[in-house]
Amino acid sequence: MKSNAQRLPFPPTSRPVYRTLQGWALGTLVDHGAVQECEHHGHRRDCSDPDAWNRAREAARHHPFHGATAEQSLAALDEVMRGIGENCPDCD
Ligand SMILES: [Zn+2]
Repeated sequence: MKSNAQRLPFPPTSRPVYRTLQGWALGTLVDHGAVQECEHHGHRRDCSDPDAWNRAREAARHHPFHGATAEQSLAALDEVMRGIGENCPDCD
């Protein structure tokens, strides 16, 4: 019987927490308080906090997403932020 054990290119322990650049960018923005989730509906909203935004950008610059450059990581932050409004659409 032929052994057909699969060999993963990376050990599971090195798997990043976020699987996509967008997911990572959103997580970074939430971690630094630039984006919050509406506690009633779970929609993300832009906190309009320049300090939080700067902290998130600094973090992305120094600790970019696994497999991406700092430039790509910063671009991802911009992209995610563009898609987020200042108010929860369901709170009105
Ligand atoms: Zn809401």
